[in-house]
Formats: sequence, structure tokens, C-alpha cells
Amino acid sequence: MTVRVRFAPSPTGMFHVGGARSALQNWIYAKQQGGVFVLRVEDTDAARNKPEWTEGILSALDWIGISRGSYEGPYFQSQNAGEHRAAAARLYESGRAYYCDCTREDVQARTGSQHQGYDGYHRDLGLGPGEGRALRFRTPDEGTTVVVDLIRGEPTFENRLIEDFVIARGDGSAVFLLANVVDDMTMGITHVIRAEEHLPNTPKQQLLWDALGVKPPVWAHVPVVVNEKRQKLSKRRDKVALEAYRDEGYLAGAMRNYLMLLGWAPSGDREIVPWSVIEDEFRLEEVNPSPAFFDEKKLRAFNGEYIRALPVAEFIDACQPWLTGTGTIAPPPWQPEEFDADAFAAVAPLAQTRIAVLSEIVPNVDFLFLAAPTIDEAAWTKTMKDGSADLLDAAVAAFEALESWDAESLKSTLEAVGAERGLKLGKTQAPVRVAVTGRTIGLPLFESLEVLGRERTLTRMRAARLRLV
Ligand code: GLU
Repeated sequence: MTVRVRFAPSPTGMFHVGGARSALQNWIYAKQQGGVFVLRVEDTDAARNKPEWTEGILSALDWIGISRGSYEGPYFQSQNAGEHRAAAARLYESGRAYYCDCTREDVQARTGSQHQGYDGYHRDLGLGPGEGRALRFRTPDEGTTVVVDLIRGEPTFENRLIEDFVIARGDGSAVFLLANVVDDMTMGITHVIRAEEHLPNTPKQQLLWDALGVKPPVWAHVPVVVNEKRQKLSKRRDKVALEAYRDEGYLAGAMRNYLMLLGWAPSGDREIVPWSVIEDEFRLEEVNPSPAFFDEKKLRAFNGEYIRALPVAEFIDACQPWLTGTGTIAPPPWQPEEFDADAFAAVAPLAQTRIAVLSEIVPNVDFLFLAAPTIDEAAWTKTMKDGSADLLDAAVAAFEALESWDAESLKSTLEAVGAERGLKLGKTQAPVRVAVTGRTIGLPLFESLEVLGRERTLTRMRAARLRLV
């Protein structure tokens, strides 16, 4: 039997990192089993779906390595509506479902409780189909439903505690529970690997598989992803969109490596491993069922390591979207006035060791590509003290006299200017750095000045000196 798995996102927002994690787990499982990965877009909630969210999911999947054309689909749930209705009809005709026109208030009036589920009132009343009547599944009164779950063993549910749940609405359309099952059935899905949040749906869905006469899939409910307060990651509170990480300059390799560590680890004491190792070693059965902590700090550190491991040429390429506004980064971060590829190549190795996400390249190198530096006023006030004017005058004079404009000479020259004033190099550098780059921190100063060149460096130092008058 060929293993067939699916990833079934609902296009109701940006693509959640937890979804990306499930997609990768499905992807690897299919690969390991020589199986097929199917992408199904669950687009039946017309009020909340937008086509651009679908496009966002497809492109984010592509970014993370699940590339278009390398899977089956995308299928769209809405296109299968006829099958959903047909299954609902079969369940009604076989007596496994019945019509009901109770309102919530009716049920409350009968049970006297707002919290109790449906009381089975219409089970045996023989109501036929009609406008505004919902179709409910007749759950068994006795016995248990045992879910075979690769991660959680055999969660067992008492059937008598499962209410007669709705499977089709008053207008005849199937609800999520049924549509999702019918699609999995139609697509021949053998393994459903999805988020833990769906576990409460699973006994109901398994009852539907049984009632429709098809062997249910094997399930695997992967752990919920939580923040540092152990709260489920939420799009209102946490940074959850894969696209946001991409646009901030996380590398796809770092991201997918990190996502696979949510609830699982490769052998040995390793966390950063080549993707091929993850593909070999990952075992769905080994995924820890407890909530998985999405540690953004750790992800950042991870990404920094991935950045440092890039060949410089690749690092230079990877930075282009942030430097030149090309590529898919939204919104375009910054427009350099005079981007110069050679100047960037000269400082790129210095920046590569210092940044953790690619967008941080901008404040490190923008001084090279702007006609005048963007002065950070707080940095200016903190740095420019009484002696700064005199220091800048002396430094300008000494730099003007330099024969060779290179980092070495610049350093020894400025060091000498500082020493004459009893200043250590750090104190001497600070006003020069702010004058030239506008900031207090950045790339090594003398290399920066060498790349910026004599004219521009001196112009900026003179301009800063005038500001101090
Ligand atoms: N469309 C559902 C969701 O995004 C997925 C359901 C499933 O994987 O079975 O939560």
C-alpha cells in the first residue's frame, strides 16, 4: 500500500509556523515511506478565505523546500463539494444520520443548561430533509472509539460522551468534520499527520470513516506550539507568520531545521544538522507529545550560525533583497541612493560574522550607500563631548595628510591623534564612527573608512565638525 499523506491548510491568514512544521513532518514522512504528499487547500469557509492567503501559503511552502510541482495538488476543498453532499446523503439514507431543526435555545430549554451538547431530541422523530434542517450523525450509544495515533498511542473515547454532531448545515453543505473526512477518503489518504488541536475531532471523524465503510487512516497528532509563557502561539500575540520570518531575513535552511526540532531531536548532541540527516533520522513515532516551545531567541542564534556558514558569495546574494529592494521582501526595506556591489563585497565578510538575520545588514552598511549618513541623534548626543570638535579637527588634518588610504594607516594615525590627548583608541574612534556612519556600533571602523574612501570620509567628518560649532 502506498503511503499517502496530506497537508491541508485553511487559507484564513498568514502561514503559521506550526503549520509549516506539520507540513515538513508530512513531507519527510512521505519521503521516508516512498509515499506521496498531497496539498489540499481547505477553502470552504468562504467568509474567512482569501485567494492571496492561498498564494502566500504556496510560496511560503516553496521557500521552505516543499516546492511547487513536487507534490500532488494543490486540490481545493470547495471543488469537492458534490462529494461532500453525496456522503451526507449516504449517511442519511443508511440511517446513520438524521435531520434536526432544533435551535440552540430549544436544546437549552430542554436540558436547562447552556453547556450541555445536543440531547438527541430528533434521533427517532423521523424528520425528513428540508430548508433549515441540519443533518446530525447518530453516534453509537455504547462502546469506545480507539484512535491509533503514531505519537500518542491509542487515545480512547467513550462513544456515549460524543454528542450527535452536525455533519451538514441547513443549506445542505457539509461542515468541516465531514468535508475533511470525505476529502481524505477521496484522495486515498493513509496517514493523517496534523496538529494536536484537532485531536478532539478525531473520534468523530473516525466514526464517520467507519459509517462510510472505509478503513480509517493512521493518525499522528503533533504537539501544539507554545510561547515562553506556555501559551499556544497565537497570531494576535506572537510572531507566527512564516512569511514574517522570511522577510526579516531568516534563511530557509535554518528555519526548517529549527521547525523540525519542535518536539524532536537528531541523534547525538547535535541540533544544527544538514537537512539530509533530518530526512534520514526523523521518526514520527519519536515526536514528543508535550507542547513544543517555539524559542525565537534560539531560532535567531541558529540563523546566525547558518549565516556564518554560508560561502561569502552566497551571503552577498542572500543580502540583495534588503540592499537593493529586489526579490520578494515586503515591504521594500530601504532604498540605497548609490548601491555599489564592489563596496558591499569588500565589507560583506565583516558583516557576515556580526548579524543574526539578514535584514540587520541594512544598519551595518547603509552608510556606504547613502549620500550622507543617517545620524542617530541619541548616539550623537551620547558620543559628542567637549573634546570632540578638537579631536575631529586633528583627525581630519591627520587623515588629509595620509599617503595611503588603508585600514592599517588610518588606525595608526587615529591612534596617534588620540594618544596626544591621552585617549584610548575606543574613545578616539567613537566620534569618528558617529560622524561617518551616524551610529555608535557597526562594522570595524577602519575597514569601513577604507571602503568608504578618502573624499567621502573627510566630507562627513568636516560636516560633523560643523555641527559641533
Ligand atoms: N484545515 C485544517 C486546519 O488548517 C486542517 C485539518 C486537518 O489537517 O485535518 O486546521
